[in-house]
Amino acid sequence: MIPTSSYAAHAARARLAPYRFERREPREHDLVIEILFCGVCHSDLHTVRDEWGTGNYPIVPGHEIVGRVTRAGTGVSKFKPGDLVGVGCMVDSCRECANCKDDLEQFCLKGATFTYAGKDRQDGTPTQGGYSTQIVVDEAFVLRISDKLDPAAVAPLLCAGITTYSPLKHWKVGKGSKVGVIGLGGLGHMALKLAHAFGAQVVQFTTSPSKREDALRLGADEVVLSNDPEQMKLHAGSFDFILDTVSAPHDLNIYLQMLKRDGTMTLVGLPDTPPTINGGALIFGRHSLAGSLIGGIAETQEMLDFCAEHGIVSDIEKIRIQDINEAYERMLKSDVRYRFVIDMASLRE
Ligand code: NAP
Ligand code: ZN
Ligand code: ZN
Repeated sequence: MIPTSSYAAHAARARLAPYRFERREPREHDLVIEILFCGVCHSDLHTVRDEWGTGNYPIVPGHEIVGRVTRAGTGVSKFKPGDLVGVGCMVDSCRECANCKDDLEQFCLKGATFTYAGKDRQDGTPTQGGYSTQIVVDEAFVLRISDKLDPAAVAPLLCAGITTYSPLKHWKVGKGSKVGVIGLGGLGHMALKLAHAFGAQVVQFTTSPSKREDALRLGADEVVLSNDPEQMKLHAGSFDFILDTVSAPHDLNIYLQMLKRDGTMTLVGLPDTPPTINGGALIFGRHSLAGSLIGGIAETQEMLDFCAEHGIVSDIEKIRIQDINEAYERMLKSDVRYRFVIDMASLRE
């Protein structure tokens, strides 16, 4: 077994605190990965606060992992020690169902194995995430990372990047589309960069006036303060696609009314209370309301390669693991520019 240091939530709503546990010895197709950086996703916070009823503590969060392969099982063919690699939100799936066969492992009909708060398919042990010194993962769920980009700034692509890339692709956002992005946080700023890179006209909605200049720098053609009713009226009936990345309850109907005829609004943010939908906001204009969950492994690799080619990374603030609880407090106040990334060297001191 491999002794591992980490930070974990020992109970619902508890502050994260040091935790030592053991990772398995590598199986035939496993890689042992020394974790260099791990991004801090709002899903980590929802889970630690038990807002989604995940339970089963202690939980080591973290699913935006970049590290180096230190050992490889005897049957590993795609990677070797020394390779720079990434691990996102999933570490396994059944690999046999129709969705797995379609490279959509996140929708595995038997349930994908998530990187933390999941259960290993072979031995039933709890999966533990990236706020830790190393992780052991089957090579089929490991991504190749270009060494052209800053590895710390690449880490958030493993969740925030793919979660926004996948719906933008699925709903065919590109030249000629008018796209709205709601919320300028970790997911929102990646959506903005990617939609801009795809050639769309992008309007950023934010509740934070102080983020206006950043939004323009990150690729927005226009910025709308969503708590100003006058500004909100200007875009009525004009969007082909809107991506909602907000982590807290808010009114969806006002945005549904901003869609063009046949336009789609897709939720990726998952607040703890369900929204109230006004049927009229869908019916008038034949609007669609949809959702999207991360992306499959093949699409995640495609996104990483796209980002390497176009020089796209996350705007990050590096933190030490010892500062994680303060980082969560700031995240709750929408005070992140635009992703915290833990430098895991701080856990090895
Ligand atoms: P984040 O960095 O905290 O960003 C959330 C943003 O939402 C904030 O920066 C803020 O933007 C806006 N916001 C916060 N409270 C608000 C309120 N009361 N009203 C309106 N806007 C508010 O979070 P994140 O890591 O991007 O994650 C966002 C959500 O996506 C979370 O619910 C997370 O669990 C979920 N998620 C889903 C998937 C998936 O696969 N579907 C994957 C990852 C994460 P402004 O300051 O610009 O208003
Ligand atoms: Zn995430
Ligand atoms: Zn499956």
